[in-house]
Amino acid sequence: MRSIAIDGPSGAGKSTISRRLARDLGFLYVDTGAMYRVVGLYALRHPETPIAEALENIRMDMRYQDGLQRMYLNGEDVTDAIRRHEVCRAASDVSALPGVRAFLLDRQRSFAKTHDVIMDGRDIGTVILPDADIKIFLTADAEDRARRRYDELCARGTAPDYQTVLSDLRKRDYNDAHRAAAPLTPAAGAVIVDTTGNTFEESVRALKRIIRKKLRL
Ligand code: C5P
Repeated sequence: MRSIAIDGPSGAGKSTISRRLARDLGFLYVDTGAMYRVVGLYALRHPETPIAEALENIRMDMRYQDGLQRMYLNGEDVTDAIRRHEVCRAASDVSALPGVRAFLLDRQRSFAKTHDVIMDGRDIGTVILPDADIKIFLTADAEDRARRRYDELCARGTAPDYQTVLSDLRKRDYNDAHRAAAPLTPAAGAVIVDTTGNTFEESVRALKRIIRKKLRL
C-alpha cells in the first residue's frame, strides 16, 4: 500500500487539495481533522463529562459516499455539524489531550494498512505514518489562510467576521504548534509547499508534480 501524508496549519488548503488529489490518483482520502471535530462536538454537547468517559461513550464511524467522507457520531450523521466554527475551536482544544490522540491513532493507521491513502492532518508524517512514501507540509501566510477559511464559512452561511476568523486561526496555530502531544511541525523528510497567493489549481499541480516524481506515476 502507498501512503501520502499531508500536514500543515488550518486553512492551507489541505483538505480540498487532498480530496482532489485522491480522486485523480485513485487513493482514499482520509480527513483526520474530521475525527477530532467529532470528539470536539461530543465535548461541546456534554461539557460536564470528563474526557476519558466521553471517549468511552463515542462511537465514531466514517463512511464514504461518492468519494466523500461522512462522519457519524453514535449513529447520527454529523458531517455538516462538525464544520461549525465553535466545533473547530472545540476540536483544537480536545486535540491537545494525549488520551484523545491515542484514541484516534490506531483508527487512522489502520486505513493505511488496507488502502492507498492520502491522509491529512497535523501529525500524519511525524506520528501516524512516519514511513509514508511522501510527506508534504502545506502552508501559507496566516492572512491568506484566514481569508480562505472565511470564504468557506460564508459559503456555508455560518461566518463570524474576518477578524475573528483570523485571530482564532492564529490562536489555533499557536496551540497546534506548542502543545506537548504531537505538536505541528514538518516531519523529517517532508517537502514544504507554500501555497500563499496560489490558485487552487496551481497548488494541485505543484503537489501532483511532487507525487508523480516520487511515486513514478
Ligand atoms: O483540519 P481541521 O481544521 O479540520 O482540524 C480540526 C482541529 O483538529 C485542528 O485545529 C487541530 O487542532 C486538530 N487536529 C490535530 N491533528 C490532526 C488533525 C487535526 O490535532 N491530525
